[in-house]
Amino acid sequence: MPLLVMKFGGTSLATIELIKKAAERVKVEVSRGYEVIVIVSAMSGKTNELIGWVNKTSSIYDAREYDAIVSSGEQVTAGLLALVLQNLDIPARSWQGWQVPLKTSSNHSSARIEEIPTQNLRTKFKEGMKVAVVAGFQGLSLDNRVTTLGRGGSDTTAVAFAAAFGAERCDIYTDVDGIYTTDPRVCEKARKLNQISFEEMLELASQGAKVLQTRSVELAMRFNVRVRVLSSFDPSPDQSGTIVCKEEDVVEKNVVAGVAFSRDEAKMTLISVSDKPGIAAAIFGPLSEAGVNVDMIVQNISDDGLTDMTFSCPTQDVDRAKNALLEHRVSGQIHFEDLIADTEVAKVSVVGIGMRSHAGVAAQMFNTLKDENINIKVITTSEIKISVLIDRKYLELAVQALHNTFKLEKQV
Ligand code: ASP
Ligand code: MG
Repeated sequence: MPLLVMKFGGTSLATIELIKKAAERVKVEVSRGYEVIVIVSAMSGKTNELIGWVNKTSSIYDAREYDAIVSSGEQVTAGLLALVLQNLDIPARSWQGWQVPLKTSSNHSSARIEEIPTQNLRTKFKEGMKVAVVAGFQGLSLDNRVTTLGRGGSDTTAVAFAAAFGAERCDIYTDVDGIYTTDPRVCEKARKLNQISFEEMLELASQGAKVLQTRSVELAMRFNVRVRVLSSFDPSPDQSGTIVCKEEDVVEKNVVAGVAFSRDEAKMTLISVSDKPGIAAAIFGPLSEAGVNVDMIVQNISDDGLTDMTFSCPTQDVDRAKNALLEHRVSGQIHFEDLIADTEVAKVSVVGIGMRSHAGVAAQMFNTLKDENINIKVITTSEIKISVLIDRKYLELAVQALHNTFKLEKQV
């Protein structure tokens, strides 16, 4: 029998009424002859509430207990959806991560999936189960503790199941009707894409488009899982949504597929570090140990053996970065004169596989920003992406202008 993975996000399961709606949607696929694995998130707001409770106990906590607590939201929605499906006469049951068992690494709160044995579910499908409702976001470590996969992790659970079971497709039901050229709340001309390549989606997700967890896109690309992102509120879902697929399968080919941004960035500059071998390692080693998510890095040309080193990171990591760098200065491992943090910046990126074969995208981007009188503070590029740091107050303007320049409102 063909198998489908359907994932419902928290807003699609926020009330019993919505869970009933989701069940109706599952029923449609079952009646088409599919065996279905449904991956559920917690009801929207639930995970935040659970994390809030953990934080109230103490600022330093046992990460294993954190996972035991925050994984509970998915347990509830899995059970509820299974009950509602049973009421529709569909043989369904819930599965928690450990029952599958979905095996993960033991780094709690950001565990990686290591293996999904298919045996237990397959046996139950053979015995007549039509729908397995699996709690997303959670797994089991080798030392027999419950783990979680990081915020937004049930997307990754869904794609991993689709890969493990060779599903025909992985449908991600969410509160938006697909992937847009940019965030419609920032640019009203934003257009929904019918298709997007894995590579572009990966860049968009990691550059701040929050629809899919980045790791889920990595997995989909690695195992070639066709992912469809669609709204659970769409009355006619069959033709809707955005398909994330191999580059060759994308019909619509734009040079630039979208403009992504992340609002809460910070730019940090170390003034007068000595320009000698090992200096970057001495700076970025401690930052990585402190869990600072460094993104862009620029080293200036040196003068008299001294140089400035600039990097960007999320604003929430600024204090950790400062502490790590200052500690290492005190202990004599790094030398610098001053550390300057600019926490009023944002990052804007244009992404598109067409950049591989079209020159001039960077020049067009810089010209557009020049015309709006927006100063660029840092630039980085990859094969299919150009990112700039700018003052946060110009973020909306920059996104709208770039959306216009690259004619993203028009379908080609
Ligand atoms: N409930 C988890 C979260 O809010 C996982 C998920 O929904 O994907 O992050
Ligand atoms: Mg999500």
